[in-house]
Amino acid sequence: MIAKNLQIVRDRIAEKCFSVNRDISEITLIAVSKNFGISSISEAFNAGVLNFGENKAQELDEKFRELGSKITWHFIGNLQKNKVKYVVRSAEFIHSVTSLSLAEEINKKAGALNKNQKVLIQVKTSDEKTKSGLTDEAEVIDLVSACKGFSNITPVGLMTIAPFTDDVNLIRKSFSELRKLKEKLNEQGLGLKELSMGMTADFEIAIEEGATMLRIGSAIFGKRNYSKNWIEL
Ligand SMILES: *Cc1c(COP(=O)(O)O)cnc(C)c1O
Repeated sequence: MIAKNLQIVRDRIAEKCFSVNRDISEITLIAVSKNFGISSISEAFNAGVLNFGENKAQELDEKFRELGSKITWHFIGNLQKNKVKYVVRSAEFIHSVTSLSLAEEINKKAGALNKNQKVLIQVKTSDEKTKSGLTDEAEVIDLVSACKGFSNITPVGLMTIAPFTDDVNLIRKSFSELRKLKEKLNEQGLGLKELSMGMTADFEIAIEEGATMLRIGSAIFGKRNYSKNWIEL
């Protein structure tokens, strides 16, 4: 089932890239495996997925202990400072940096592991109260600049979550805002490559608007069951 879903997702990505004249090699597919167990992840891995996304530090840590660094792990959830050490140990990319104090903690823990931690700054491009991320352009610039100054962090891009809506124009606006912000930052020499945007419901719009990292869960693994612990699934 997962292999078949993956084929469908890959075909849709390829078709969209073709139609907007983008090179598919610019795009990293991150399979968001939160709430799914080791066997699901292994199935996707065996079907050729190398990048997986998790949104809880402890869940990521347990899966990392089980599967290790043959997988490129992405942390995509809200990150509390006391959990940074688990995430820095396992994640190649942290997509959800939203404050200087969090960046400082990441830098400290990465330093202790002699690691350079790749991070993305999460930007809030919708009005939804439940979503996190910076809203102020100057704040984003300051945080990216600060990250560049840390010896054990490399800022590589920006991340956003589009509003939960059927209104395609609102979704597109959210993604194009992120792309324009990246362009603006790069005009100031900040050298950001990645735009992490697009999920199951909206990844084709994200590709049209320049996404380089797609975070796709349910289109690959099926519907998540939040009432159960992932270990049982
Ligand atoms: C769960 C999640 C996704 C994937 O969502 P789907 O709709 O299942 O594709 C992407 N990004 C973040 C930040 C998530 O928490």
